[in-house]
Amino acid sequence: MPTPSPTRARGGSLEDLRRANRRLVVAHLVADGPQSRAQLSRSSGLSATTVSSLVNEMLEGGQVRETAQGRPHKGGSGRPPVLVELATPPGGVVGVDIGHGHVRVAAAGPTGEVLAERVRRLDVDMAGLSTLDVAATMIRTALADAGLAASGLHGAGMCVPAPIDRETGTVSTGILPGWRGLDPARELEERIQAPVIVDNDANLGALAEVRHGAARGHHDVVYVKLASGVGSGLILGGRVHRGATGMAGELGHVQIGEDGDVCRCGNRGCLETRVSARRLLASLQPAHDEELTLPLVLELDEARDAGVRRVLSDAGTTIGRALADLCNHLNPSIIVIGGPLGGAASVVDAVRHAVDRYAQPATAEAVEVTSGELGERAEIMGAVTMAVAMATAGD
Ligand SMILES: [Zn+2]
Repeated sequence: MPTPSPTRARGGSLEDLRRANRRLVVAHLVADGPQSRAQLSRSSGLSATTVSSLVNEMLEGGQVRETAQGRPHKGGSGRPPVLVELATPPGGVVGVDIGHGHVRVAAAGPTGEVLAERVRRLDVDMAGLSTLDVAATMIRTALADAGLAASGLHGAGMCVPAPIDRETGTVSTGILPGWRGLDPARELEERIQAPVIVDNDANLGALAEVRHGAARGHHDVVYVKLASGVGSGLILGGRVHRGATGMAGELGHVQIGEDGDVCRCGNRGCLETRVSARRLLASLQPAHDEELTLPLVLELDEARDAGVRRVLSDAGTTIGRALADLCNHLNPSIIVIGGPLGGAASVVDAVRHAVDRYAQPATAEAVEVTSGELGERAEIMGAVTMAVAMATAGD
């Protein structure tokens, strides 16, 4: 079970460790609901003494409370254990999902149940600050829709479709030209007067699929977001793996050919230039009179349209070949294909075949390949989950 950690946290001191452990406990309470101290210790991997001391501290601080008793242990005759649950202060949190072509905002209650959601289609790549203005306005509207007062907003979780530098919290690559050097968390904080935590979109998609979707119960997960861009979120040993500087999981920029198109990252021949949604739609459009959209392409795939199936399965093979290498390196137990194209059977089947063909046989056998269950809402759900964890842990 992964724990969301703020991108700007720096390890080192005992207090940092304690805060990280507290977040881990909160993350498990968010994901699995009320549970005993013993269950928390088992699921989090923390010792019983550590869990007990953290829970006592959080009871005093009012972040958790003890609740109805659980069932006695199987076959046991002892007293049923007391369960610990998150205390739910009034107010709420928001999630913000910024994609290359949309801003989605969800207002949620203090435990993460989504009460209102808004989506706007717009091209965000060139316009960092004005996109954050739009997001702030949408947050105010979504809070009003949900009947939540802006003054009761505990915090926001936000994802952006680019890596976030772990030291500075800024967007450091040229993938989002209008965002370079921007600190999106600080900028949004100024606009909504509440704490904001930010992460890369695929990391939050991975987090959401593990918590609420197709990868429940898995600890070593590769989540692939197939959209206007291509990215991956890695959960290794139950934790989101961000890498030394936050650049881990840049699947879209794996090299496919020396002489391919120039990519927005500055390199050429990147996977993304071959298989992004935009590219696939452009390949298919000449064979169709009506304007193709992703939902239409998914419908045509389901109806077994030959051209669509060919293009999607070629894309799946290309992605699967890159994923086979990743499987050889990381040995995941599941690959979840998410994003708007994750529901296409032709893509998922072709990834499966390519992994079987190119990964070493025992590694291929160990990995399940499946569509995401949360579709294009995975990222917003991950953002809400991260906001709840941040607000409850008091970071
Ligand atoms: Zn690239």
